[in-house]
Amino acid sequence: MTSPAPVIVIGGASGIGFATAQRLHEAGDTVVVADIDGAAAAERAAELGGPAASARVDVADEQSVSDLFDRVVADHARPRGVVNSAGVSTAGAIADMSLDDWNATLSVCQTGAFLVLKYAARHVVDGGAIVTLASLNGRQPGTGMAAYCTAKAGVLMLTEVAAMELGDRGIRVNAISPGLVDTPLVEGIYLVPGMREEFLENTPLGRSGRPGEIAAMAQFLLSDDASWITGAAFDVNGGAHTRRYPDL
Ligand code: NAD
Repeated sequence: MTSPAPVIVIGGASGIGFATAQRLHEAGDTVVVADIDGAAAAERAAELGGPAASARVDVADEQSVSDLFDRVVADHARPRGVVNSAGVSTAGAIADMSLDDWNATLSVCQTGAFLVLKYAARHVVDGGAIVTLASLNGRQPGTGMAAYCTAKAGVLMLTEVAAMELGDRGIRVNAISPGLVDTPLVEGIYLVPGMREEFLENTPLGRSGRPGEIAAMAQFLLSDDASWITGAAFDVNGGAHTRRYPDL
């Protein structure tokens, strides 16, 4: 669908976010690639070419998120869609986890999800759509992943509440729960000997995902083909939700 109203892809400088920006751009959307790494976001937008634009945003900082939406509305128009793909992951057993590590994950993955939903709710056009990135870990616990699992469980609940609150404006809010997707985020997991193999044994389709396979779901959820879907979460994980999560 081609629309003068832009789609903001937050966390768009890498991985799933960039793959989503690419698909939307190729389909004719005006994409704003937003990321805490403003230089990388600018490079990615330049790679896409016009009319893609870029912005720096820190989802953990309310003023920064507020400024992003104000700037997009001023420079383009009220967005028809928002995808929040910003994320970080820290591993560590609860007994060993510092409060700083806990807060670092929660502030980006959970508070960041809240702040993006807050300003998206204010600025997205009626009839628009919002996509959140949760995770298989939002409903499947993993040892050593308490902060990430807790944050992503929160994203699933935030998505449902936002869908309830925004339904009367026709704004749809849905979550995607990816399994293991090859992006910089999971490079740390691959450093643990045998971990990648264990993940794949626990995935019926026997392989990790490609960022484009998550982007395809995001694009669908932003489109009119998903016009009667809201408050839902979609497992895009090669079937990994049917199995037990490996120990980190
Ligand atoms: P990635 O590391 O490739 O991309 C994440 C992007 O978020 C980066 O560009 C990073 O700069 C940006 N970012 C980090 N902190 C930010 C902040 N405070 N404000 C704005 N941007 C910030 O990771 P990815 O794999 O593409 O992950 C995208 C989303 O999908 C994340 O929410 C992640 O938790 C989720 N997810 C990923 C996987 C996976 O296996 N890759 C699995 C499940 C869920």
